[in-house]
Amino acid sequence: MSERLGLDLWMKRDDLTGFAMGGNKARKLEYILPEIVAARADVVVCCGATHSNFVRQLGAACRIHGVRCVAVVMDLPHPPGRKPTTLPPRGETGNLVLDRMLGVEIQRVPDGTWEDLFAAAELRARAERDAGRRVYEVPVGGSSAAGAYGFFEAGRELIAQSDQPFDFVVVPTSSGSTHVGLGYGLLGQPSRVVGISCDNEPDHKAELVAISEGLAQMLGRSSPLGRDAWDLREGYAGPGYGVPSPEGERANILLARTEGIFLDPIYTAKAFAGLLDLAAKREVFGRVLFWHTGGMPSVFAGWNDVASDGENRR
Ligand SMILES: *Cc1c(COP(=O)(O)O)cnc(C)c1O
Repeated sequence: MSERLGLDLWMKRDDLTGFAMGGNKARKLEYILPEIVAARADVVVCCGATHSNFVRQLGAACRIHGVRCVAVVMDLPHPPGRKPTTLPPRGETGNLVLDRMLGVEIQRVPDGTWEDLFAAAELRARAERDAGRRVYEVPVGGSSAAGAYGFFEAGRELIAQSDQPFDFVVVPTSSGSTHVGLGYGLLGQPSRVVGISCDNEPDHKAELVAISEGLAQMLGRSSPLGRDAWDLREGYAGPGYGVPSPEGERANILLARTEGIFLDPIYTAKAFAGLLDLAAKREVFGRVLFWHTGGMPSVFAGWNDVASDGENRR
């Protein structure tokens, strides 16, 4: 790929973090799980898309520690008025197979906005509390300050592992703590962290700013990095969050056939398509690191079972 793109291309393989089939959420859970254990929670309530990678890894972590994991999920959470017209597969495929093996309690709710999803999760948390249980609520994607801290540490790890700095670090961005944590971890380095937005949020950057404030506080910094600090590239999410994009699928096939490395359809394929575009425009150049955040079970979610008109072919 380096030759093909005219870059010195490197890849950080968080698809190989190992825990519960790998992915970036392992790094967040390293710091979220101690909070869950310290709170002596009976039940964790989280939310996300039906095929959430975070739910899978969180579910495994909870199970190991004897904590129930309830996941309130929607097929296509979306910003108001921006629901993708394609649908994700409806069967028990991909991450859902693993969630069941782990005993994650999946509560499906009808499609709606992200706010609808958060409200449904809040309602479930309240019901668990009313039943006398100690509840720990985890924000979507594990993007709490503790989750972001995991990627602050990941940035430090990258510095320790490389004998020279990268010009660019390219990473998929959705709930935001991966991008924000890396931004703080790589502060003072000449590296520019470029996030490729996998969401069609009207103001995705506002979410990064909110996480930045939480992480700055946790790190004891007097002032958080503001809006200008975050290089977030939009326009690569295709039909929207939670469904593949044609450009992403092409990028995935290109990388598979060039290097034997697979990407996931929801995040890393879109981010890699973004990298290909930015490299062609010479907006990204030199020594470049692509952060592979995992998501491999989504490759097997059965996308080909969904026709382009959104009807399930099964
Ligand atoms: C969650 C996830 C992301 C996005 O990370 P955020 O911290 O939510 O921005 C990227 N890739 C994969 C595979 C993920 O599961």
